[in-house]
Amino acid sequence: MAHAAVSGTPLVGVLALQGGFGAHLRMLRDLGAEVREVRVPADLEGLDGLVLPGGESTTMTLGIAREGLAEPLSALVRSGAPVLGTCAGLIMLDREHLGLMDITARRNAFGRQLHSFETDLDFPDLDEPVHAVFIRAPWIDEHGAGVEVLASVDGHAVAAREGEITVVAFHPELSGEHRLHAQFLERVRERMAASRASRDD
Ligand code: GLN
Repeated sequence: MAHAAVSGTPLVGVLALQGGFGAHLRMLRDLGAEVREVRVPADLEGLDGLVLPGGESTTMTLGIAREGLAEPLSALVRSGAPVLGTCAGLIMLDREHLGLMDITARRNAFGRQLHSFETDLDFPDLDEPVHAVFIRAPWIDEHGAGVEVLASVDGHAVAAREGEITVVAFHPELSGEHRLHAQFLERVRERMAASRASRDD
């Protein structure tokens, strides 16, 4: 049986303990990736990339601890596997949670009055604005020098990149916005090609 790494199809995991993982799985599949729901450490083996979806970061934190996922998940990210975190996924990656990205997230940052809203955001490497759906979203309060802010709302960073990690405070998977997932998969494919090339040397 051809393994994903051999066939060249990226194998992408989506953390599926809780929250909105289904829409990410569909979008990644539509873009040509092989997908796997991640619930236990064994599900992380052999992944070429990882998506952390939205949901409730407190519940996700408990689930990660219960399943012993923090260490193997962190090892995968530190090995350089591309990561896309959305909303609660952004929170999970920050300094106060998994500590994998040099950012501090503020939960429910837009306040009670503004639970949910939609807006168009310009991204540096996309021609057309991104239609962004925010649901009780965080923003990035602070970030280190190695973090590039990609988009802001009223001066607050809501999308950022550091190395192979990209985070957005909104839900591209809910508005049919596929370009950020496509960019993520492009990074996954580039990294797969680079590691194939170094193996063949
Ligand atoms: N408010 C949630 C939290 O703090 C995040 C919301 C979302 O992921 N849509 O975890």
